[in-house]
Formats: sequence, structure tokens, C-alpha cells
Amino acid sequence: MTSAAAGAVVVGGGQAGFSVASTLRASGYEAPITVIAAEPHPPYQRPPLSKKAHTDPQDLRVELVPESFYRDRDIDLRLGDEAISLELADRTVLTGTGARVSYDHLVLATGARNRPLPVPGAELSGVHALRSLDEALAIGRALTKARDVVVVGGGFIGLELARAALAHGVRVTVVELADRLLGRAVSAELEPWLRQRHERAGVRILTGTAVRALEGTGRVERVVTDREVLPADLVVYGIGAVPRDELARRAGLAVRDGVLVDEQLRSVTDPRVSAVGDCARYPHPQADGPVRLESVQNAVDQGALVARRIAGSADTAGPYRSLPWFWSDQGDVKLQIAGLRSSGDEVRVAPGDAAERLVAYSFRDDLLVAVETLNWPAEHLAARRMLERRTPISAADLAGTTLGALARAGRTAEVRG
Ligand SMILES: Cc1cc2nc3c(=O)[nH]c(=O)nc-3n(C[C@H](O)[C@H](O)[C@H](O)COP(=O)(O)OP(=O)(O)OC[C@H]3O[C@@H](n4cnc5c(N)ncnc54)[C@H](O)[C@@H]3O)c2cc1C
Repeated sequence: MTSAAAGAVVVGGGQAGFSVASTLRASGYEAPITVIAAEPHPPYQRPPLSKKAHTDPQDLRVELVPESFYRDRDIDLRLGDEAISLELADRTVLTGTGARVSYDHLVLATGARNRPLPVPGAELSGVHALRSLDEALAIGRALTKARDVVVVGGGFIGLELARAALAHGVRVTVVELADRLLGRAVSAELEPWLRQRHERAGVRILTGTAVRALEGTGRVERVVTDREVLPADLVVYGIGAVPRDELARRAGLAVRDGVLVDEQLRSVTDPRVSAVGDCARYPHPQADGPVRLESVQNAVDQGALVARRIAGSADTAGPYRSLPWFWSDQGDVKLQIAGLRSSGDEVRVAPGDAAERLVAYSFRDDLLVAVETLNWPAEHLAARRMLERRTPISAADLAGTTLGALARAGRTAEVRG
């Protein structure tokens, strides 16, 4: 509970902003809560946008809670307004509609934006990025008329969308600059399995291929790559995201590809300001430097921790230590990651039954630090449990077995002991 008058202001009405506002009230915070949200929609989930792009827009139910939730909890949700500057000394946010909103605590939850496609023709009609609900609905409409879809970027969003688009009976080609799919996010050892599944389903995949230009008269008609020219009446690109940290930078807060925060997610420049979710870069004990993660888990857990700290909960004196985890549904492929891997880790792959499922264990200094699974949810859950408890597991512990088998045999206690 607090006696502060100005209360908490959250900039950004996405997954992390929602987590802050809802957890504040759930934690007994009684001062005003204002959420300044640039989009016209109440907070919604983004994961379905790339996985259900082919479905009827009426089916795309993504709202996190009904609008009555905000009214009932006296959360002032200001949709369609944007924070345009921060006056840190006066603890005030200025918005696009001319409002000046004072705060005792400010939480930046501004998310990330898509990296623009840096080629001629990217502005043609029929060329889409995918981040917002409105963009997903536009892609859904375009898919009903499309025949040749080119997805630029073989990352999570590109592959999810490629598989979702197939269900619409279109031809789909994924063009990826790197020599493999999911280069930044997934161990190389898993890629051939994943690629084969997508190709078997009917996605054409061109890796090591650069898009040079998009061409057409008004509308996109073809994609010119350094290998071939692809017919296209719909192009969707997903080539990474950049944090929306410009508001913080202009205000003089420390920023380095994300708002720099301490272990409790407070700005390293101003402890009255916190940053959470895709826009925040925070210290992680397993990483060489501060990390910025783009996942629902990260947005939800960071938002909740900051809210509980602001509300004065006793359990938030320590650092933010939630285990990172992530999922991606790409057609018949469920990819799940627990923990934080890095390029220097030693990776061991274990096949499941008839290679219908696969797991990659990453070890650092002979300790298990991350687990990537393909179509193996039970192994992912076992990994989350063990990594959360910081159970020390070595490569020898996992020789010829799996985490699930270790847990079933009760051997994790031995390992831990
Ligand atoms: C298509 C897609 C699929 C995804 N699939 C998965 C998945 O399967 N699994 C997973 O774990 N993660 C997935 N993610 C990632 C996940 O959705 C994000 O990590 C998460 O939404 C981050 O939450 P956030 O609140 O930090 O940012 P966002 O959800 O992006 O919300 C930020 C909000 O802040 C608003 N904003 C920005 N600047 C201002 C301003 N100055 N004033 C007011 N408002 C502002 C933005 O308009 C936006 O609405 C996916 C993302 C996308 C785009």
C-alpha cells in the first residue's frame, strides 16, 4: 500500500504494461494507475498473430482481458495516446494529445518495432511487416486473395507465418540471408530437422539468399533475390526487432539497444523509472553483459516484479531472476526453449522416439544451462523445473538419458545432492 498521490504511470499497453498494471492492483496498490497506450486496442497477446494469420479475423480473439477489467480496478487506460517526452526532474510524462501526467513511479513498457526492410520497393502495397493486431488482420485479408507468398526472414515469426499461410492454399517461399534458419535463436544442431519438417509440409526455403528489391507497378509482383526472381503477390518480412527506447534516450536515461536497468529493473540513471519487457536490457548472471529478451514470459515476469516492488511487497528486495523460457508453434513443430544459451556452449542432441521429437542440451563449464526441444513438451517442462531449481546437471548425468527420465527415476535428487 502507498500514500503517493500521483501514482504509477505505465507507458505502453502491451503484454508487459498489462502485467505491471494488473499486478499493481493485485498487490494492493491503491494510488492512481495510468496506462498510456499508443495502439487503439486494449492490451492483447501477439503470439497468435503469426500463428493464426490465415483464420477468420472474427476468430482472432487476442485481448488479454475484457475492458471491464480496467474499469473495475480503476486503471486509467488511455488508448490511442502516445508518450512523446519525459520530464524526469518534474516526474511528468507529456503525451501526443497534450496531456501532462505526473508520476511517483514511471514504468517504460514500450516494446520493440520491426526492423525495416532496407531494399527498394519495400513501400509497395502488398508488402507487410507483422507486429500489431492491425497488421495481422491486413495480412489475413491479403492471404484470401494471394497465390504466391514470399516471407523474408527465416526467424520465429517468419516461419510461423509461413506455416500458417500454407493452410490457405498458397505457395510459400521463405528467403533467409543467413546460411540456416533461426540463426540467432536456436542451436545449429536442430536446424536440419526443423527445416526438413517445413519443406515436407510444402514451404520452399532459400537460405544464403539476399533480397535485392521488391518490384511491381503500385503493388508488389516479384521479389528479386541474388539467386532468382520470385513471383509474389504478398510479401511479409520479419528480419528482427529493435527496442523502442527513443523516449528514454531523449530524456537522458542510459540506453544501449534497450533501456539499461539494474537487477531490480530500475533505470541505472533514475531509480524512479523502471523498464520491462522487450524494451529493457537487464543484467543476467549467466550472460557476459546485460541482455534484452523478446518473449511473453520475460514481459509478464518483469512487469510483475516491478509492480510488486512499487506496491511495496516484501518479496521483491532481491534481483530479478526468473528463468527465461519461450515457445514457437510452426505448423506441426512446437519449439520450446528453457534457459539462456550462448554461442560458446557445448551442445548435445538427443533424438526422441523415431526422431519425431528432438532435444538439444547446452552445457557451460559442464553444467546444463539451456534446453531446446522440438515436439517434446514434457522434456521442456522437466527442463524448466530443474533449471528453475538450479539443479546442477552435467553432460555425464545426461549420457544416454533425458531430463524427464532422470526426474521419473528420482535421480535428480542424487544429481543435486
Ligand atoms: C507476431 C509475434 C509473435 C510472437 N510470438 C511469440 C511466441 O510465440 N512466444 C513468445 O514468448 N513471444 C512471442 N512474441 C514476442 C512477445 O509477444 C513480446 O516479447 C511481448 O509482446 C513483449 O511485450 P512488451 O509489452 O514488452 O511489448 P509489446 O507487446 O510490443 O507492447 C508495447 C506497446 O507499447 C506501445 N508503445 C510504444 N511506445 C509507446 C509510447 N511512446 N507511448 C505509448 N505507447 C507506446 C506499443 O504501441 C505497443 O502496443 C511474438 C511477437 C510477435 C510480434
